[in-house]
Amino acid sequence: MTAARQIAAIVGLCLPALCAPAADVRAYVIAKTNGEVAAYPDRVAACLSDMNMVYAQAGLGFNLVGCSVVVSNELYVVDYTNAASRVALCNYAKNTGGIELYFVGEIASSQVHAFHTRRGIVVGPDATPRDVSHEVGHACGWKDIYEAHSGTSLAVEGSPRQEWIPDDWSSYYPRNITQADIIQRLLMYGRSGDGHLDIPAGAVRGLWYTNVFNHVTHTWSRDWRISLAPVSAWHGMNRSPQSE
Ligand SMILES: [Zn+2]
Repeated sequence: MTAARQIAAIVGLCLPALCAPAADVRAYVIAKTNGEVAAYPDRVAACLSDMNMVYAQAGLGFNLVGCSVVVSNELYVVDYTNAASRVALCNYAKNTGGIELYFVGEIASSQVHAFHTRRGIVVGPDATPRDVSHEVGHACGWKDIYEAHSGTSLAVEGSPRQEWIPDDWSSYYPRNITQADIIQRLLMYGRSGDGHLDIPAGAVRGLWYTNVFNHVTHTWSRDWRISLAPVSAWHGMNRSPQSE
């Protein structure tokens, strides 16, 4: 123990270098009774490594405080479109005080590699560590952002200007960069890919949506808009992400 740590321990001080904000993470790896395992420890470690690399730009770290193997043939495959299936998986552990990652052998009824629910993050076999870091962004309260999407005719076009990236504006962008290029660099860009990395300081103008419930048809739909999207470290970031 260093002298600084000893002093901090003795007097109960929280020195910044010793107490950088960190969120707890618990991983649950589903395994079948025949021995098939959804993920090996190096994959879980790679996810934590990417999370810590990506979120360092926002001053947040992650601690893997537990990694459990859960033997369950039923939970090995989660049905993306079936609420009961999602809940059965993500309720395996409840209110652990941090983020719960559930590694499964298959995400059925969907092409998604991973997805976030308020009860936990589900990680399928095709998910990259960056996909998981993106889903953690949803746990931090951020929305997906796009330049265009098949669900709407709206699209972001043109060169960036100060009011479109008000807290990140600089004169150092390449000459021909477009607002769409900037959007595609963001961690919260809504399509899978390892090139999506940036956490901006402030909101970024882009295409995004909120889910709206129709009380007549009892269905959810997406309310698309182009405006400053909540994808940033300064506005609305939950720095204590927790799964229910
Ligand atoms: Zn997303």
